[in-house]
Amino acid sequence: MNSKLSNRVNNMATSATLAMAAKARELREQGKDIIGLSLGEPDFTVPEFVKEAAIDAVNDNYHSYTPVDGYGDLKSAVITKFKRDNNLTYKPSQIVVSTGAKQSLSNLAQVLLNEGDEVLLPAPYWVSYSDISKVSGGVPVEIPSSIESDFKVTPEALEAAITPKTKMMIYSSPCNPSGSVYSEKELRALADVLVKHPNIIVVSDEIYEHINYVGGHVSMAAFEDMYDRTVTVNGVSKAFSMTGWRIGYIGAPEYIARACNKMQGQVTSGANCIAQRATIAALENDPSKIQYMVDAFKERRKLILGLLSEIPGIKANEPDGAFYVFPDISSYFGKTLNGTLVNDSSDFALYLLEHANVATVTGAAFGDPKCIRISYAAAEKDIIEAMKRIKQALS
Ligand code: PMP
Ligand code: GLU
Repeated sequence: MNSKLSNRVNNMATSATLAMAAKARELREQGKDIIGLSLGEPDFTVPEFVKEAAIDAVNDNYHSYTPVDGYGDLKSAVITKFKRDNNLTYKPSQIVVSTGAKQSLSNLAQVLLNEGDEVLLPAPYWVSYSDISKVSGGVPVEIPSSIESDFKVTPEALEAAITPKTKMMIYSSPCNPSGSVYSEKELRALADVLVKHPNIIVVSDEIYEHINYVGGHVSMAAFEDMYDRTVTVNGVSKAFSMTGWRIGYIGAPEYIARACNKMQGQVTSGANCIAQRATIAALENDPSKIQYMVDAFKERRKLILGLLSEIPGIKANEPDGAFYVFPDISSYFGKTLNGTLVNDSSDFALYLLEHANVATVTGAAFGDPKCIRISYAAAEKDIIEAMKRIKQALS
């Protein structure tokens, strides 16, 4: 807290995922052997065909400002992708390319929320939804779930959370942090509630779309009666291992896309030109080209779930997508481990960092204080060693 700074930033939480990654980096620099399972970041290199497109763009002298909402041919590639993978039809005026899906989400909060508007967050939710909403004047309203319901919210819980002030709902499927994937039937049941409340805009974050081990990805906007009030968010960070290239995009009702374009025009202008050219190559290729990464994540999921099941007091369900496990560790609350009292999931994550040298993230940051998030987008040897250390630290 610094009184010289705005209330806006003083009231904002630091991103727990990035904070834990920074802490792990700092400890590593001090010579500690930290295994980082805190950040959701694929450890693969960028596919060759994407790299080649970026190199071509440099050699072809792409260097100048791009249209604020993205190159026209990139928007065409996004439109083709939405049609091919999601059966969604968009016009170029409905697409906005941004500096990562994080900026897409931030644009949406900025252009849709007024002071006091409520934002429904089916919990657990991705850490930044809450503060991205708050900084735009929104009031996050969590809709609870639990490991028993596979971390999915019910239509009844959704209905109960809606008030006259509800403006927006943001959710991800596959979900970060739980890995849960809503089936078509489950999503339809939520849509049946939402159609009764036509003022609510739904933000469907589909950035883990391709990292799905059960198939059947469904876009909320593919329901005809939801299309006009749903924004589909996606990006290349996860599927193409392009986290540092910073490209995300939306397909949205035209008035929302125009507003995001206007907002972005004053704040950052268009996204990086070379990364935009590379994204065309990424999106034009069939998703089968990146299946090798999904297959590897699936193997790692099996590995980590097997090892976690050998650790007493940890309850994990099988995530259907993304690359996280979100175990319930609440059986440790109130216990003293190696002289450290563990009262909540933040204490637990800190204990693992200090006594197992393994970085995870507290579930509290994702709206579920009984859990921690462990990313398995890491080398198998690191997963094995990390689970061994955690087991030892808890024994
Ligand atoms: N949504 C979810 C659910 C995420 O996990 C992430 C991870 N960074 C993002 C959005 C933002 O992605 P990016 O800004 O890298 O495109
Ligand atoms: N989305 C990733 C995560 O949840 C990256 C970190 C971030 O952008 O917050 O770990």
